[in-house]
Amino acid sequence: MSYIDLSIREIHKALLDKKVTPLELTKEALARAKGNDDNCFESILEEEALRQAESLTDIKEGDLLYGIPFLNKDNFSTKGIETTASSNILNGYKPLFDSEVNRRLKEANAVMIAKTTLDELAMGGSGTTGHKGITYNPYSKDHSRMVGGSSSGSAAGLAAGIGVFATGSDTGDSVRRPASLAGLVGVKPTWGRISRFGLFPFAPSLDHVGYFTRYVDDAALLLNYLAGHDEKDFTSSYKPVDDYLARIDEGVKGKRLFRIKEIEDSLSDRRLLKAIDKLSETLIKQGAEVDIVSFPKDLLESLYATYIVISCAEATSNDANLDGIKFGPYYQGKTYQESMKEARTKGFSELIRRRFVIGSFALMKENQDVLFLRAQKNRAKVVDYINKIFLKGYDAYIVPAASSVAPLFGQASDKLSDEYLIADNHLCLANFSGMPSLSLPLALEDGLPLGVNITAMPFEEAKLFSIAKTIENITGLGGLSTVNPRKGNL
Ligand code: GLN
Repeated sequence: MSYIDLSIREIHKALLDKKVTPLELTKEALARAKGNDDNCFESILEEEALRQAESLTDIKEGDLLYGIPFLNKDNFSTKGIETTASSNILNGYKPLFDSEVNRRLKEANAVMIAKTTLDELAMGGSGTTGHKGITYNPYSKDHSRMVGGSSSGSAAGLAAGIGVFATGSDTGDSVRRPASLAGLVGVKPTWGRISRFGLFPFAPSLDHVGYFTRYVDDAALLLNYLAGHDEKDFTSSYKPVDDYLARIDEGVKGKRLFRIKEIEDSLSDRRLLKAIDKLSETLIKQGAEVDIVSFPKDLLESLYATYIVISCAEATSNDANLDGIKFGPYYQGKTYQESMKEARTKGFSELIRRRFVIGSFALMKENQDVLFLRAQKNRAKVVDYINKIFLKGYDAYIVPAASSVAPLFGQASDKLSDEYLIADNHLCLANFSGMPSLSLPLALEDGLPLGVNITAMPFEEAKLFSIAKTIENITGLGGLSTVNPRKGNL
């Protein structure tokens, strides 16, 4: 254990008391980054981080991110620093500006330690498709297990104790599922709550900025810094920002929560089901109401197909600007078309090309009604249904965040089984609805983390954090990492 394993408020106190300096925190994070072999990084920013940390000698009480080391997913634009989204098509691309998230973190004097690997262009959930190869789960020392994705390097790095928080993006589950497989808190706030300026788009109607922390308190505190309108992103909300820490300890007394029967029915991991039962018994003892409600199974089974059609269609159109002319490596051809064809053929892996084929097919005039519009209608149907349940007076729903612990590489999954279609894909529900949603560790199964996910109504993040904090107190897993292992209470 070292200071970087503590919560942000604890580190802040230690900094104010001069027990540790920003430079020491940075050096510790860099040493851990360099000693790690899980392939978490596109680049480690040693020089830049040390230079910044050396200049941080004037901390003021309340500047909570001052000197705090963090990891940055490589699809957030960083001024003057190569940003590739783990795709060859962007090799060598150095943005001329910072993403709004990075601008804010810089202004708060947080220290960026490294840029992290992802599934290429954030399309994927395995951590195996980026141009740097496979990112491993730090909980499997023999590199036998996935950490998931697409925010794979951020999840693996933070779970290995490198830095205090990590940025991510979540279009279908890319923060919340890897958070579950790596024993972290993974947050996707309401759509529009955090500016996406400078985040490479994947599917804008579903894309969210998200992030990972090891403590629920840190997750709430970070949103205080990241939330709020940004005139550079016209989809960012004007809604006033709450103080997300103010109500964090209010507990669950009087709160109405629901579980979804059909999602739990799709699970085969008994240990996970038992942990959810025990959690809900304890929440009831603490004054919450926990109901089990039904959600049409055919709608749940349709989530994945709906997600693929909408996200691939949006991706095809958004990534049309990756033509090898404006960004990344240029290939000489006789015509623009020839150069572009070469750049895109060399620049994208097979998985991306496949997604573009699906997207283009769904957008073809003759297919739009039966594919794209039908998927949009189904999305609306799913969101209507979940809203209807919430309108019965519920505050949040609680579901398993993944079907089990981190899967082994090569472990065959039957892609048409309920366990795959429902249990491993239902998190995109909150991308369809834009609702704030968060995963956190629930229990450990043979030393591997199991996660739970909670979701609330739009802009109810403060409520979400207070429920999550209660759960963290019940599980005893706050601060979990491979450097700070725990047993857990459930
Ligand atoms: N795993 C999902 C996919 O394959 C989600 C990706 C994401 O959220 N960026 O697209």
